[in-house]
Amino acid sequence: MHELSLVAGLFEILEEKARDEKALRVTAVTLRVGRLSGVVPELLETAFDTFKKGTIASRAKLRIEVVPLKVRCRSCGKESLTDEPVFVCSSCASPGLEIMEGQELTLQRMEIEKDG
Ligand SMILES: [Zn+2]
Repeated sequence: MHELSLVAGLFEILEEKARDEKALRVTAVTLRVGRLSGVVPELLETAFDTFKKGTIASRAKLRIEVVPLKVRCRSCGKESLTDEPVFVCSSCASPGLEIMEGQELTLQRMEIEKDG
């Protein structure tokens, strides 16, 4: 399962950040998931809940923000947001689209508790 290896990588980052900030525990995690990242949010939640047991984030809540696909046309510069994969510019029909957002899985926010 794709999501499991992503979450494994995520936990390495979380635990490192938590150590850096001397956190007692991680209470909430917000992820940005691109519409075209290939990640299924439900599977991501399941993987997160499986993985968090016994970690510093064992009681953390997971929030997922789904990011629409954002493309920019290399010919005319038009930027558009879409929920569907697109291959040509909606304005000039050029196929030279650059993907700006929508393929990523990023750690947006981590909430922690500290001692005293
Ligand atoms: Zn264009």
